[in-house]
Amino acid sequence: MNLENRLRAKLAERQMAHRYRTRRIVGSPQGAILQEGGRPLLNFCSNDYLGLANHPLVVAALHQGAADWGAGSGASHLVNGHSAEHHALEEELAEFTGRERALLFSTGYMANIGVINALVGRGDRVLQDKLNHASLLDGGLLSGADFQRYRHNDMAHLRARLENSGADQQLVVVDGVFSMDGDMADLPAIVEASRANNAWLMVDDAHGFGTLGTHGRGTTDYFGLNQTQVPVLIGTLGKAFGTFGAFVAGSETLIESLIQFSRTYIYTTALPPAVAAATRASLRLLRDAEEGRQHLQQLITQFRQGCDSLGMALMDSMSPIQPLIVGSDAKAMRMSARLAELGCWVSAIRPPTVPEGTARLRVTLTAAHNSEQVDKLLEALNDAASQAGDEEVLP
Ligand SMILES: *Cc1c(COP(=O)(O)O)cnc(C)c1O
Repeated sequence: MNLENRLRAKLAERQMAHRYRTRRIVGSPQGAILQEGGRPLLNFCSNDYLGLANHPLVVAALHQGAADWGAGSGASHLVNGHSAEHHALEEELAEFTGRERALLFSTGYMANIGVINALVGRGDRVLQDKLNHASLLDGGLLSGADFQRYRHNDMAHLRARLENSGADQQLVVVDGVFSMDGDMADLPAIVEASRANNAWLMVDDAHGFGTLGTHGRGTTDYFGLNQTQVPVLIGTLGKAFGTFGAFVAGSETLIESLIQFSRTYIYTTALPPAVAAATRASLRLLRDAEEGRQHLQQLITQFRQGCDSLGMALMDSMSPIQPLIVGSDAKAMRMSARLAELGCWVSAIRPPTVPEGTARLRVTLTAAHNSEQVDKLLEALNDAASQAGDEEVLP
């Protein structure tokens, strides 16, 4: 079979399975309301948890950054793309996370691939929660280390795996807040199990920064865990920070090692300096967004209580990620389409992004929403659920 035919067959197969991915074209900046195809939709699927992606001060810093530094960085960090703006942001992120140093990466995906591969290889072992983000799983697979997964948040399973190892070095890797379920890793227990077995620990807190902990310092701050307990800490800048990019925070030795050995750090162009400038502005806002975080918590409570009284089962999540498990892919797609008809944008997340039989509506709430908008969503969900349920029993 030639390539063209093979691809066509795979596309047709995906379509049949209700797993075909399509993109809707957004016609406005991120916010509680998005324009799509000329109509406004209430946005319940972005990761812009604090509404910073279109915040006037962040946008102004991006403008000023472009005026000061131009559009592009021109080269990788190790050649001559590492500007004073990047450097200042790294110092501010180190201070923010309470780590010795921080290092910018161009995306979270690249940070995860590059960090795992700089730390472990053949003869070592990587242990990951089954529900870790794809970039962490890919990093583990690529590393050449013995790659094993443990059942989601199952500490007995993790301990058993850690204790039964002939590897030179073990690395435990986990999401702080799980991106498709919204629950948190049991970090205190993971820290303890890692320490007891001389394993290193890496936490990806893409969804914890900005939303959890004092001043939005994330999951490790929430649990009071320092650099010795969590030596490798990853953050992304495209979620609550509202901009783009990622960082790793940890010891001097860790960061210097990444600069020497992390291929996704070394062999790629540095972020535009203007993005670093915008992120410095968003970091200041994120730190001081206590009111926004409180408001967000109120919306989360309102949403959870609302679902409860509608008889909709929620996951064990206190984060802005509030998924509703639907089960079948087709039903998740129908409900998402009905929600759009009713003016709410909630994306259906299907396998292979989530395990088989757990297709879901991944609702995310942000500080930019108000409580009337959450009420509208609850009403729409109720309608979509009853309609999807009716259709399910038709022949
Ligand atoms: C979004 C996400 C990433 C990827 O970050 P990007 O900067 O978007 O590449 C990594 N890890 C987790 C847990 C994420 O949710």
